Amino acid sequence: MALIVHKYGGTSMGSAERIRNVAKRVAKWARAGHQMVVVPSAMSGETNRLLGLAKELSPAVGSPELNRELDMIAATGEQVSVGLLAIALQAEGVEAVSYTGWQVPVATDSSFTKARIESIDDTRVRADLAAGKVVVIAGFQGVDEDKNITTLGRGGSDTSAVAIAAALKAAECLIYTDVDGVYTTDPRIVPEARRLHTISFEEMLEMASLGSKILQIRSVEFAGKYRVPLRVLSSFTPWDISIEEEAKSGTLISFEEDEKMEQAVVSGIAFNRDEAKVTLLGVPDKPGIAFQILGPVADANIDIDVIIQNVSHDGKTDFSFTVHRNDYARTMELLEKTVGPATQAAKVVGDARICKVSIVGIGMRSHVGVASKMFRALSEEGINIQMISTSEIKTSVVIDEKYMELAVRALHRAFELEQIPT
Ligand code: ASP
Ligand code: MG
Repeated sequence: MALIVHKYGGTSMGSAERIRNVAKRVAKWARAGHQMVVVPSAMSGETNRLLGLAKELSPAVGSPELNRELDMIAATGEQVSVGLLAIALQAEGVEAVSYTGWQVPVATDSSFTKARIESIDDTRVRADLAAGKVVVIAGFQGVDEDKNITTLGRGGSDTSAVAIAAALKAAECLIYTDVDGVYTTDPRIVPEARRLHTISFEEMLEMASLGSKILQIRSVEFAGKYRVPLRVLSSFTPWDISIEEEAKSGTLISFEEDEKMEQAVVSGIAFNRDEAKVTLLGVPDKPGIAFQILGPVADANIDIDVIIQNVSHDGKTDFSFTVHRNDYARTMELLEKTVGPATQAAKVVGDARICKVSIVGIGMRSHVGVASKMFRALSEEGINIQMISTSEIKTSVVIDEKYMELAVRALHRAFELEQIPT
């Protein structure tokens, strides 16, 4: 029998009744002879509630000096969850023990509110497993070398689960959530969207980073680095379905390309409204200009994504790039006050009403004409493309935000994603 890690999200842990269901499901796996480690999130809404309390007390919440205390507060959400789940498991007649991050310990760096896991000591967990206990470990948290409690960033329990699975060399990490797998795109936008039985790790990374918020992006990176087999599945199936059936449900994130049953050129369509576009008009087209513009932006710790520079006219060019919407105001200010004047830009303009739509698929590596098919589908809908960026396995376009749903639907149809590829 195998060592299995289960992760349950906030919705799955949302009430006493739901926690009882989680316990019944875990107990079923334990009774089948598996060694079980369970990593739950805080009950749904709890992390927001806790952080909200802190905000009520000080307008300075959000500034780095207070992040240590925020982690102290936020980590309690998961502490409650592990205790409740261990009690629910015992009520099901299964021996269980709960741990916070620091008790394991899950060692992290000291970047409060976005700490990175450095190592996990598996001694205590292994001893419990050997003694036949189910081990319940708080997600989202760890401890730094000075014994400060840290958290891993919103959605961080996914990363906890994958890291714990990696440290224990678990046979599989099952992420139970409120959706039943990874879809070709968001079914709320395209009702014909189809659940993928498998998706390659690289595609998942693109889908996750491009805005399919099923898994925290870092958890996918971790799974890739340590080759942790990962499955996303629903926690709302009846808890007593057979383990065989359950183990095949959801979406497997696989590493072997030939393990991929479905060989579509494009596997999915991702989109997000998280970015904003800024443009410097009429900057001199000379060596070093990109660095002159983007250097100060990087120094201000602003991440940039898509970049485009136009052909020049009369020695002048336009230079655009996108940033996270949260950084939009800061970027505009930087460009208007410093970078624009320094580079002799004629004008700085910005647009926060954009979105990025991407087609993703490892099949794009070996197929030509995929991007042009994308552009044709968009042009048939009269959608203007403002920016384009590509990688080996994706093509992204920046378009007006008001066409987002139209674009996603048109692309889903153009690539026939509602059909199982043959
Ligand atoms: N409870 C944390 C959050 O809401 C971590 C998680 O749910 O994964 O972000
Ligand atoms: Mg989550």
